[in-house]
Amino acid sequence: MKAVEFQAVEKYYDSFQALKGVSFDVEEGEFFGLLGPNGAGKSTLINSMSGLVTPSSGSISVLGHDVIADYRKTRRALGLVPQELIADPFFNIRELLELQSGYFGIKGPQQQKWIDELLERLALSEKAKSLTHQLSGGMKRRALIAMALVHKPKVLVLDEPTAGVDVDLRRTLWEFTKELHAQGHTIILTTHYLEEAEALCNRVAIMQEGQIKALDKTSALLSRHAYRYLRVVTPHSKKDLVPELQSRLEESDGNGILLKVKKEECMSSVLGWLHQSGIAIEDISSRDASLEEVFLDLTSGKAQETKNV
Ligand code: ADP
Repeated sequence: MKAVEFQAVEKYYDSFQALKGVSFDVEEGEFFGLLGPNGAGKSTLINSMSGLVTPSSGSISVLGHDVIADYRKTRRALGLVPQELIADPFFNIRELLELQSGYFGIKGPQQQKWIDELLERLALSEKAKSLTHQLSGGMKRRALIAMALVHKPKVLVLDEPTAGVDVDLRRTLWEFTKELHAQGHTIILTTHYLEEAEALCNRVAIMQEGQIKALDKTSALLSRHAYRYLRVVTPHSKKDLVPELQSRLEESDGNGILLKVKKEECMSSVLGWLHQSGIAIEDISSRDASLEEVFLDLTSGKAQETKNV
């Protein structure tokens, strides 16, 4: 069964079209990345899964349940970690987790044990009796994750879970998320940290201006990319390079130069141009594109246009 199916989802905010007919599936058990620049429509799409946003047309189902017609079943299957915690002036973290369990009709000692485990795993045990406004930013984020997991949802959706959190916490969050994935949960993630998406996600979709620009296995997206990158460690600077290399220069810094070379280009021509430049070469290494480079290539055309306006 599909974990999530988006079919021709459109969303208008007044006359502005934020989603322009988005269709794709997420398979059960996938670790799926939804990427895109700010304003691409990722949050609108994700919030449409949980009823926070109502699509103007199209349909979404979670584990076969339509998110509008079968709202309760969908909510039961879905754990959504939003970007912001809504402050609650009355209930402490533990009480909020108990209330959330009650909303899903789950009670009893087993549930208390699960709440204890969540608090423990997310390093919140000591803050169980704190109110939301007494928590630091990182703690709030962990509380949000605990809230989303309280009913052990099959599909976990994380919207920028590591934005603005420190390296330690980021690692803890990813370890926990990877464990949940290994236990069979489907994970859908939006993130700006593309190296994380590259390391974690089996498949990624790249969204821009309310549309899917690319969707594939992460490895396929990377190998489909037309370029490879050549790092040359040299004490010389870019002004010493022959024009053929100047035009392929991606960046140059104190350590040397980075060349962006078409895959079909013969490596021996590139080496010939380096030789013609007469520069001293201390080291040379070649690699495929990173997800960040693929992402920028796919999305920067528009960014360029915007800059020129
Ligand atoms: P992302 O999550 O990819 O940054 P969003 O889904 O938040 O993108 O936003 C997509 C577009 O829809 C943006 O242009 C944003 O300004 C617009 N938008 C989002 N929410 C609303 C809203 N409630 N009212 C009007 N426009 C909105």
